[in-house]
Formats: sequence, structure tokens, C-alpha cells
Amino acid sequence: MNLIFLGPPGSGKGTQAVRLAKEKGWVHLSTGDVLRAAVKAGTELGKQADGFMTRGELVPDELIVSLIEEKIAAGELANGFILDGFPRTVPQAKSLDEMFGKNKIKLDKAILLDVGDEEILKRIMGRAEKEGRADDTPDVVRNRLKVYREQTQPIENLYREQSVLTPIPGEDTPDNIYAAILKVVS
Ligand code: AMP
Repeated sequence: MNLIFLGPPGSGKGTQAVRLAKEKGWVHLSTGDVLRAAVKAGTELGKQADGFMTRGELVPDELIVSLIEEKIAAGELANGFILDGFPRTVPQAKSLDEMFGKNKIKLDKAILLDVGDEEILKRIMGRAEKEGRADDTPDVVRNRLKVYREQTQPIENLYREQSVLTPIPGEDTPDNIYAAILKVVS
């Protein structure tokens, strides 16, 4: 299956995507993970992305779209995948549609983990203490949420129109959420 996972930062989509990809043998592609690795390795991409990430802003669409283009060209998305953290803007979603069309890739579902702002703030503050992510401070988290609501949420409409949007209640235990996801992908 070819899936997109949507949801605000802290919705648990990363955890769920990793678990599902592992169980099904699909590729899990997290643009956040790729960018963090690039920053750590000090690559050109990392240098360009670093400041945006630290401020909780989105990195420019061109950078991300070419990253995904490379993965598709390398055949990495040929046998089932979960995109996690991409697309994040309407232009990214439109570019992705085009790339899918050109490469005869069919998107099966866009799974949306629904979690309210209050719960998100609570969760991310917990994660900040555990993992020490540089972009998990209160101000940056608030900014990432704002960015999500303003720039990412509008792409839900696109997937609703394509009849692939599948909302899952995300304020539940990880196991219950996983069970709900399994139901819609089997
Ligand atoms: P994430 O781990 O998905 O929360 O991503 C962490 C940060 O990486 C985001 O706050 C953005 O700065 C950047 N990022 C990840 N994916 C994208 C994307 N698709 N478009 C733009 N920026 C992204």
C-alpha cells in the first residue's frame, strides 16, 4: 500500500508509521528524519534547512520536493511506502500528485491522526524532556502548531476530494490507535 500520514506535530504519526511500516515491510520516509540527519552530517541540504527547523518553520518547498524526487527516481517508493511529514504545504501536495502521476504511483490513503492543540502541547512538552529535540521548546512548538494549522491542514481538502482522506481519532492509547490504523489498511 502507498500511504501518507497526516497530523499535527506530536500526533504520534511518526511512532505509528514506523510500527506499521515494519510490520508490513513498507518503506517509512520521514522528511523530518532525513533533514535532521542532513543537519547532523553537515551536508548542503542540512546547512540550508537548519535555521528553518530551529525556528519551527517549514524549509522551502523546492528543497523538500527535490528530496522526494530523488527517492522516487532511485526506486525507493516502488514497493509500498508511508510518507511521514510530507507533504506539508499545498504546493508540496500538488507537486507530489504530479510525481505520482508521472511515475504511475497510486496513493491508497491519506491517514489523518486527529489530535487537538491542548493535547499536542502537553505531549510535546513531555517529549522535549525525554529526547531533547532542539525544536521542542514551548515557543517553537506553538509556532510549529500554528504552521501546521495554517499551511498543512489545508491539504486535507485535496485528499478529501480524491476520496482518500481517512481520519483516525488520535487521542487514545498508541495500541488502540494502531489497531484503528490496521483496520483501514487491511
Ligand atoms: P518533523 O520531524 O516532521 O516534525 O519535522 C521537523 C522539521 O523539519 C519541521 O518543523 C520543518 O522545519 C522541517 N520539515 C520536515 N518535513 C518538512 C516538509 N515536508 N516541508 C517543509 N519542512 C519540513
